[in-house]
Amino acid sequence: MPVNRQIKLAAKPVGMPKESDFRIEETAMPDPKDGQVLVKTTYLSVDPYMRGRITGVKTYADPVLPGDVMVGGVTGEVVKSNFAGLQTGDAVVGYWGWQNYAAVAGAGLQKLNPQMGPVSTALGILGMPGMTAYFGFLEICLPKAGETVVVSGAAGAVGSAVGQIAKIKGCHVVGIAGGDDKIDYITKELGFDDGFNYKTTTDYYGKLKELCPKGIDCYFDNVGGAITDAVLVLMNTFGRASICGQISQYNLEKPELGPRILGLVLVKQLKVEGFIISRWGARFGEGAQQMAQWLKEGKLKYHEDIIEGFENTPKAFIEMLGGKNLGKMLVKA
Ligand code: NAP
Repeated sequence: MPVNRQIKLAAKPVGMPKESDFRIEETAMPDPKDGQVLVKTTYLSVDPYMRGRITGVKTYADPVLPGDVMVGGVTGEVVKSNFAGLQTGDAVVGYWGWQNYAAVAGAGLQKLNPQMGPVSTALGILGMPGMTAYFGFLEICLPKAGETVVVSGAAGAVGSAVGQIAKIKGCHVVGIAGGDDKIDYITKELGFDDGFNYKTTTDYYGKLKELCPKGIDCYFDNVGGAITDAVLVLMNTFGRASICGQISQYNLEKPELGPRILGLVLVKQLKVEGFIISRWGARFGEGAQQMAQWLKEGKLKYHEDIIEGFENTPKAFIEMLGGKNLGKMLVKA
């Protein structure tokens, strides 16, 4: 008789998570009730927000506590259906977390259209990270052709898409990422105008001033910390900063002290706005259509780093937090 496997949080991590903070358990195969389907996981997404979920603190979502199955976006194949809207063999995306099989409400799943792109893209460029780039950048930064846009976390799932969207909109785009190979990728493959490796650059302010001679009109912030402090000083009057993520802070054991920026926000009349992507949940169809169109036209590219094996999901998560990924980090179950 087949068994299910689930990855549970074993302990709340201190600092950078360790593989021993997770454990795999074998459990009985779930049996779908009326209105549910049995899904077999095909790809698992590992995302930075998961670090926030395992701190034990309620933020915009409930925490995952030790003993709970890890949350997360997943794709799967329907293997049994008690829901009229889905059939055996359908590919779906949902949020059943780190488990090989799950019995889930069919109404909470999105059936994937193979015309839009490969299944894995539902967790990347055509899924939550892609929508984060699309809406988080366009709706908050309101970019205009000719403006200068800076993107931090520029070689990751969200940042690599933001820079390309900014290019489509006619902007001058500078990316910041943690490796020379990553800077080569965003400039030579993705068409960013310039970029620098924050791990080998000591003077962020000086480097940004050199690469953005007309100042910075839009900033898409994935990382926070000292990089963001330097960018904000160089923002032009009426600049817009979209605060998407603060990954440089997620694994700190003690909060960092930073400059007090509100004086700067005041005199430069900046708009600095944070967002949670669920804000635009009702418009994901529109965003995915546009992104799929740009992919077809060759205006947008994506890269996926895929680790094989369900049991390697914690490892993939930790490697993504440490910056091993180029583009979207995924696990093939
Ligand atoms: P990602 O960029 O694909 O992967 C994370 C990247 O963060 C790593 O590859 C690493 O790249 C970088 N990083 C790790 N530690 C860092 C540090 N100390 N300083 C600077 N960079 C560091 O992840 P993603 O899924 O696209 O997410 C990017 C950001 O968007 C995250 O902050 C995430 O929390 C946020 N996000 C927010 C929303 C929302 O609704 N607001 C939705 C999705 C994602 P390097 O090699 O460049 O260091």
